[in-house]
Amino acid sequence: MLTKPNILLIYTGGTIGMMKDFATGALKAFNFKKLLQKIPELQQLDCQIETISFAEPIDSSNMSPKLWVKIATIIEENYAKFDGFVVLHGSDTMSYSASALSFMLENLSKPVVFTGSQLPIGDLRTDAKENLITAIQIASLQHKGKPVIGEVCLYFEYKLYRGNRTTKINAEHFNAFASPNYAPLAESGVHLRVNPESILPRHHKKLIVHKELDDQVVVLKIFPGINPTVLTAILEIPNLKGIVLETYGSGNAPSEAWFLSALKKAIKNGLHIVNVTQCAGGSVNMGQYETSTGLKKIGVISGKDSTTEAAITKLMYLLGQEVSPSVFKTIFETSLRGELS
Ligand code: ASP
Repeated sequence: MLTKPNILLIYTGGTIGMMKDFATGALKAFNFKKLLQKIPELQQLDCQIETISFAEPIDSSNMSPKLWVKIATIIEENYAKFDGFVVLHGSDTMSYSASALSFMLENLSKPVVFTGSQLPIGDLRTDAKENLITAIQIASLQHKGKPVIGEVCLYFEYKLYRGNRTTKINAEHFNAFASPNYAPLAESGVHLRVNPESILPRHHKKLIVHKELDDQVVVLKIFPGINPTVLTAILEIPNLKGIVLETYGSGNAPSEAWFLSALKKAIKNGLHIVNVTQCAGGSVNMGQYETSTGLKKIGVISGKDSTTEAAITKLMYLLGQEVSPSVFKTIFETSLRGELS
């Protein structure tokens, strides 16, 4: 007899499980288990669903590395018992969390699908039901008794993306996410179509959960007018270990001496500086323009076509692993979980 896939729903918070406080008009977290009982559609799904909720669900603006460890631990403790995981999460920082979890869960071979919604599940026009139901269906997909997808992904508005390739692009539209540099893993239309070329290949290694994340990092978006005082103040933050530098176009930045020499000194002192583009899509290619040649020369790391979300969480992860400075750049420039091309 075929057994139905077992899915664990992990509720961390976010609009999906919120309800309007009629006194103030603001959205606030609600008992998610109770809410789920009001969705009869879930009983029609061909899987067993169990739920676990943060004791205090959060708006995802309050997400943190500590809470990423909590999510990773829930997955670790339930990994053998379940075939797939659906993480219900606010959309605001969902791409950061999906990216962080992708690095923390090494050798993942089961699906971890992040989803949420723009409107609460109890709202008449909600997008939550479709997102939730399809995310559960994706987490239940099996071929010959084995999960079809074995990576951290994000499902929103008919598309399944690799989580560490996503970014939130819209606070209004139901279509809130994009994966500018990587094709969707699956699309939901009349049929649920998985794109076999996009998903990570299957493997049989044992899951390793990494729980050390170093938050001595910063994202610096450059802009015309950035001045030496601002740059120096950032580079001299006590104990700072890494910077994600959001540059122009294909990785370009001011080529003025004060700018390059400040970065050069910081790198010499052990700071890791990662170059990602401010553009919505495309890749860093240091050396293509004169305005990025200097960055390449002084040892800036190329984030290639990574999102800022993937770059900053990868930095936290690799710093937490205490990767030796001599190989840090090479490892960072290597795709660890499909986060860069
Ligand atoms: N502010 C909410 C959150 O990120 C928005 C959402 O749930 O989509 O938690």
